[in-house]
Amino acid sequence: MKNHRKGERMEKRQMIYEGKAKKVYQTQDPDYLIIEYKDDATAFDGKKRGTIKDKGILNNKISAIFFELLERNGVQTHFVKLLNDREMLVKAVKIIPIEVIVRNIVAGSLSKRLGLAEGTELSTTVLEFCYKSDELGDPMINQYHALAMNLASKDQIAEIEQTALRVNEILREFLMTRNIVLVDFKLEFGTHKDKILLADEISPDTCRFWDSSTKEKLDKDRFRRDLGNVEEAYWEIYKRVSS
Ligand code: UDP
Repeated sequence: MKNHRKGERMEKRQMIYEGKAKKVYQTQDPDYLIIEYKDDATAFDGKKRGTIKDKGILNNKISAIFFELLERNGVQTHFVKLLNDREMLVKAVKIIPIEVIVRNIVAGSLSKRLGLAEGTELSTTVLEFCYKSDELGDPMINQYHALAMNLASKDQIAEIEQTALRVNEILREFLMTRNIVLVDFKLEFGTHKDKILLADEISPDTCRFWDSSTKEKLDKDRFRRDLGNVEEAYWEIYKRVSS
């Protein structure tokens, strides 16, 4: 991939995708896209909808901090630079339609599926794959399904797993020093030419963050479960990771 020249101004052109929380725009350079983060929030496969004031701004900035941290530690990501409050410049990737879930502590769907209490420490980090499909509700799959459906090659799956575990180590350590427990999170990867890059976002929309001392939830569960102080939780995460 050619290097993005620092002085070159990226023009926002046609919108090519609008998702639940983000819009994606082309630029004059096919190797780069602009992501705009929205305040819209959805949960339970879109059945619950709302907005969280300034969420787009906070998720844009929080994701940028995490992507920069990961890059400094040798993880290749799609992140190039922040453009403004709500937008970042990224390398264009073809998203691999697998959601990679990394779990350190039992919460959410795992608690229901296995009948384990939320907050139970897992003896070892758990990786799960889900097939990215809105119509099917992102069903859980394993490596055999991913291979059989040609979602990714064996080597790509191995690399994705290794990178996901490395991301977990880096984020966990960084967050621990900020009094935040990384309970679980979701990653997406994409390909650019022959490279696999970490893509999408890393934010309170896609991670579970608990205060280490009080175990207070500081993430989207506050919205999903109507716990109140939703905006405050996103601000609190931004405050802690930006200091
Ligand atoms: N997650 C996500 N997008 C999804 C599903 C899950 O970002 O479509 C994140 C979620 O925020 C949590 C982790 O992945 O941090 C594990 O989610 P879980 O499988 O427990 O599902 P949930 O209980 O959120 O439905």
